[in-house]
Amino acid sequence: MGKPMSKSVIVVGTGNAALCAALAALEGGARVTLLEKADKSLSGGNTKYTAGAMRFAYDGADDLLPLLRNPEDPRVKRADFGSYTTEKFANDLLGFNDGRPLSEEQEALVHQSGATLRWLASHGVKFEPIYSRQSFEKDGRHVFWGGLTLAAENEGVGLFDMELAAVERLGGTVRYNSAVTGLVTDAGRVCGVQIGQERLLADAVILACGGFEANGALRVKHMGENWEAAKVRGTPHNTGDGLLMALELGAADYGLYSGCHATPMDLHMADFGNLELPPGERKNYRKISYFLGVMLNAHGARFVDEGANFRNYTYAQYGAAILEQPGQFAWQVFDSKTYDLLYDEYRFKDAHFVKADRLEDLIAQMSGVDQAAASETLARYNAAVDQTTGFDPTVLDGKATVGLNPPKSNWAQTLDQGPFYAYPVTGGITFTYGGLKVDAEGRVLTGGGDHIKGLFACGEILGGVFYAGYPGGSGLTSGAVFGRRAGQGAAGS
Ligand SMILES: Cc1cc2nc3c(=O)[nH]c(=O)nc-3n(C[C@H](O)[C@H](O)[C@H](O)COP(=O)(O)OP(=O)(O)OC[C@H]3O[C@@H](n4cnc5c(N)ncnc54)[C@H](O)[C@@H]3O)c2cc1C
Repeated sequence: MGKPMSKSVIVVGTGNAALCAALAALEGGARVTLLEKADKSLSGGNTKYTAGAMRFAYDGADDLLPLLRNPEDPRVKRADFGSYTTEKFANDLLGFNDGRPLSEEQEALVHQSGATLRWLASHGVKFEPIYSRQSFEKDGRHVFWGGLTLAAENEGVGLFDMELAAVERLGGTVRYNSAVTGLVTDAGRVCGVQIGQERLLADAVILACGGFEANGALRVKHMGENWEAAKVRGTPHNTGDGLLMALELGAADYGLYSGCHATPMDLHMADFGNLELPPGERKNYRKISYFLGVMLNAHGARFVDEGANFRNYTYAQYGAAILEQPGQFAWQVFDSKTYDLLYDEYRFKDAHFVKADRLEDLIAQMSGVDQAAASETLARYNAAVDQTTGFDPTVLDGKATVGLNPPKSNWAQTLDQGPFYAYPVTGGITFTYGGLKVDAEGRVLTGGGDHIKGLFACGEILGGVFYAGYPGGSGLTSGAVFGRRAGQGAAGS
């Protein structure tokens, strides 16, 4: 008997989820073609815009060393990585579930996260500790906090490059400028795709073409009018194409369509992310050091607890909170005590801000804001700060306001030392939470619970992974976990 013919698999997209799916399908013996809507420079989707940070469960430094590009770096020896157990990861996700239990997808994400990172490392994807953003120096050691410890070498672009190299080593090929416009079916089975007039057939199709965050009409339909004007932090190409094609074939809609990840961004950034910036500068339109100051809306009022938790547990919700404010903007206000602690993005050459030696003069420059109300809000805030507790940004320091609504629960310091700084911000959407449902083999399910033969999905296009927010760094890990699952499923289908 001859060798069984290897399967042909089409992967739609070239982001992290697509590349992981391709890698797993190639490992499973399939012939793989990836189809990318963008040209080569904008291939890689949102993945290329990321900092490459990946959250996963680990028990201690021994689990991390095999993943590192340079385990001999002297800083590694001086690092206190702590541990991030599956229980902690599960609890962090639960903290964003609005009372829902962990979904099947979240269970898989938590329990397969560590093995998936090791799998990526076995294909040459290497990581670095995130010293700058996720650790503080304490007694000469880098103490990591928040469970998010590693990022791909050279951030999202590095992740893309290393994954693409692995895919190409195993024989996968990519076609750019090839937007998939439809799914081809035969007797109820997906057997290929349309690229405009062209028809490309395959044994299985994996949709890894992102969510619908760059589609204004779908944003308004699912999330409301506030979202029409949202900035898009990443690619203009994630317009929900694959989602619409699958839904048309009877796929179930799953997860929270009204939910998305959105962060505070520079009010004056362009409408989409800018990949032309060098990798280290790409995140610089983001403005997420609000926990060190306060945020005021057009009415001069505070509207969130800026210090509710470490910023990677709040930043994904506060973009939406800003879009809900009148005029859909806010100002972040800091004084010189914390200025040096602000992330580099606040000193970015394109950062918009105003500066003054006196608070009143700062407020006078904060355009669109009710100045009298802002002045009163800041005076009330300053008067409410607990002066007995010490400020410590490395922990939830409990230095809170007393009797204010909303409170500032940690890191509340009086704004009293000039020069003062204020940054205008709005909400920028990162990715959407609603999507498709897949089974344990990555097959797309219908409303009735059957699977659509020949159709797989992974990455941002899935629902059920995130609800009211997400612990930073979970998106890429989710793409890798479910990409691997879809690739294995498609190769064996
Ligand atoms: C600025 C920014 C920073 C982020 N930082 C992090 C981080 O540090 N850590 C983290 O975990 N997550 C982060 N995220 C979230 C992360 O980007 C996503 O979770 C992840 O990249 C999604 O991967 P994906 O493969 O599903 O989608 P994408 O990487 O977006 O890939 C989708 C691909 O599909 C293509 N496509 C779309 N439609 C079609 C079509 N019709 N035909 C063919 N191709 C199509 C797109 O062009 C794109 O290449 C960040 C996101 C942004 C925007």
